[in-house]
Amino acid sequence: MIAIKNAKVVLETGIIFDGVILIEDDRICAVGPARELEIPACATCVDANGAYVGPGFVDIHVHGGNGHFFYSEPEQAAEHFLSHGETTVLATLYYDLSREEFLESVRRVKAAMGTGAAKAIGGFYMEGPYMNPKYGASPEKNKWRGPIIKDDYQEILEEAGDLAKVWAVAPEREGIEPFVRDAKAAYPGTTFAVGHSEASPAQVYKLRKYGLRLQTHCMDATGRPDVMRGTRSCGPDEACMGDRDMYAELVCDSCGIHVHPDMLRMVLENKGVDRLILMSDSIVSYGDSPEHLRHIEDLVFDANSLLSGSKLTLDIACRNMMQHTSCGICQAFLMAARNPARVIGMDDEIGTIEVGKKANLVFVDDLFHVQKVMLEGNFWQK
Ligand SMILES: [Zn+2]
Repeated sequence: MIAIKNAKVVLETGIIFDGVILIEDDRICAVGPARELEIPACATCVDANGAYVGPGFVDIHVHGGNGHFFYSEPEQAAEHFLSHGETTVLATLYYDLSREEFLESVRRVKAAMGTGAAKAIGGFYMEGPYMNPKYGASPEKNKWRGPIIKDDYQEILEEAGDLAKVWAVAPEREGIEPFVRDAKAAYPGTTFAVGHSEASPAQVYKLRKYGLRLQTHCMDATGRPDVMRGTRSCGPDEACMGDRDMYAELVCDSCGIHVHPDMLRMVLENKGVDRLILMSDSIVSYGDSPEHLRHIEDLVFDANSLLSGSKLTLDIACRNMMQHTSCGICQAFLMAARNPARVIGMDDEIGTIEVGKKANLVFVDDLFHVQKVMLEGNFWQK
């Protein structure tokens, strides 16, 4: 048994300032204030030295980082994010992979899962393949612009199975509904997201009955089919704002380039803490940044100097969110751990510090500098 003492334990409902957490095997077996919770004599004590101890971060949308893509080097990618407190990640596969590459990538990641740092890989986030080429899904790289045909996707659906926790789609793509229906019928736990899209709210809401309840990077890589110059129609961002139950993903970089701080505050005000998800959208790319953005370290650009994701990890995204909005430390953990666990249906196992859940923990100071990470009851050391 491990006893973590002298911790500020971040719960869903608040903070225990003199907290103790007891861990047996890979599970949390008790949590409480030091004055109420006796530490068994057999336990190995770990002094948190007053650090905040929160649930390990759950990054549902992350392609890779520190030079490693999940699809090609899952263990190395997982190591990078684990060292930043991400104890659950969804390996994110993008529309730029061909059918064969999707299949190979899924097999490669599945083979790595369950050992070492790759224990943190909880499944897949399929960002595509059916996106709108107009929004971020660059036409040269997009191999999925033609008609949506069952023979093209069926094998990928089967290979990924229920590990594909999220499928992001552009609802305006012709023939998308049969794809979504097939995926939902085969794997009822699947969540669908709207992303890289200019779908109207009606087109988005039409897919709600299949489990569409998430927006891929809200306020980012979307458009609206405006009817006339000077007027404003509604696209996926507005659809998300207009449905209380929909979750919004946010890329929260240090300078508010993906989403401006004014917009972050507006989205927070509209959706509320319970429907926001911080994700990294971290990716590996070596394009040059435009001159005026060269000083910003957490952005990634493609070969055409277009914004193409981030170098974020969720510890830093939490700090950025606190810097740009009125969000506090508890709320940051809700957005970076509990809410993402909920949207992918894994909240009975992860996402909060509760008795019976996996002992996935991150120790941070008040600036979200990571001090220690525990994955399934073991402290992570490279
Ligand atoms: Zn992405």
